[in-house]
Amino acid sequence: MLLRHTTDKIVERHALTVNPAKTCQPIGAMYASLGIRGCIPHSHGSQGCYAYHRSTLTRHYKEPVIAATSSFTEGSSVFGGQANLIQAIDNLFTIYSPEVIAVHTTCLSETIGDDIPQIVKKAEAEGKIPKGKYIIHTNTPSYVGSHVTGFSNMTKSMVDYLSQGNGHKEKCINIIPGFVEPSDMEEIKRITSELGIKSIVFPDTSNVLNGPMTGKYKMFPKGGVTVEDLKKTGCSIGTLALGRLASGAAARALDTKCKVPCELLDLPIGLEATDTFIDTLRQVAGVHVPDSINIERGQLLDIICDMHQYFYGKKVGLVGDPDQLISLSKFLISIDMWPVHIVTGTPGKKFEKRIREITKDSPYKVNVKQSGDMFLFHQWIKNEPVDLLIGNTYVKYIARDEDIPFVRFGFPILDRVGHSFFPTVGYRGGMRLLEKILDALLDRKDRDSSETEFELVM
Ligand code: SF4
Repeated sequence: MLLRHTTDKIVERHALTVNPAKTCQPIGAMYASLGIRGCIPHSHGSQGCYAYHRSTLTRHYKEPVIAATSSFTEGSSVFGGQANLIQAIDNLFTIYSPEVIAVHTTCLSETIGDDIPQIVKKAEAEGKIPKGKYIIHTNTPSYVGSHVTGFSNMTKSMVDYLSQGNGHKEKCINIIPGFVEPSDMEEIKRITSELGIKSIVFPDTSNVLNGPMTGKYKMFPKGGVTVEDLKKTGCSIGTLALGRLASGAAARALDTKCKVPCELLDLPIGLEATDTFIDTLRQVAGVHVPDSINIERGQLLDIICDMHQYFYGKKVGLVGDPDQLISLSKFLISIDMWPVHIVTGTPGKKFEKRIREITKDSPYKVNVKQSGDMFLFHQWIKNEPVDLLIGNTYVKYIARDEDIPFVRFGFPILDRVGHSFFPTVGYRGGMRLLEKILDALLDRKDRDSSETEFELVM
């Protein structure tokens, strides 16, 4: 009954978003910044934006999220935030001594037109930036883009500001993991090291936002890519960008700046996308795939065979980020499930085309919308019900209202824990994803079974 005003009559809308399927750009920029060791993200705008961004990350990762703000008042909103940012830079380096301050803008500072590079230059001229410390920045007005483009912009800024080439190539591969969980970044590093490959993963929020409880608060945890490694990305033999939207811009910028060739791949979610990731790693680094990885692949295949009877022919509705939904749709189709309603709030042009290609053999009409919202998604469901919903926490209102099994996946997940510790990428991640999907379907089957159909045996 929560969304009882949603009607099944779909009316063309252009100017109005209802229940957005995205969050705002600075959240992604803040998340990416936390993936640099010793970095303080800095929000150049009002305290309200900063509080919302920090609290969204804290609620999703269940970890304290450090960040600073220019703390705009009415005065800075009218006359510009230069004085506030210079004061903030001075305070942060003096009090907390970070290696890097990563500045991103908000709607307000973008609208008044603050020129961050010019302000940083002034801070430098005034001696406010200690030797060996860095300030990087990106523009993240939230009236365009989404948390995914914010992540992409800040990741590209890491390249623009810090990557350096010296003409020599090291036998090392850069991996840009995309907007994924810390657990996924950890899994990507584990797979890479199983193959015996030296890599630089950036950004890397593992051990920052999924660190152990030690009883002691550390402002700068041990995780994250170091500034030194970020500089060395320009000397690697290649870059793998996972997720074209979140990682493509940084990979291309590195190619242009330091002549590091890049491959743009789908996020390694599911069997086929993980195969492609591992095979590309193998080719670029010239290594063999070890038995340990082949065993994991075989286990995923085995689970698919064992569970297939419950997946077959089920219709699914998906809400999330473009890179994740592309790989997830492929994975679901490979196990004979049919995504029929797919919506992302992140704007762009290529997603719909890609999903159309992936779902071209679907026996159902497939609804897909980039820059869509969850109101439209709910209307589609009212017209064509589905067996399962997969998406972020906000989808649970639709799941409850329509009484549909629901799997939480993507960003943000505010009402469950575990996602930052257990990956969904790689073969092991695929196993976990399938376990969650099967649990949701069989819990519903158990709930709805009559006494005579209530069954112990799978
Ligand atoms: S949408 Fe703009 S104004 Fe609102 S919280 Fe995000 S950055 Fe701030």
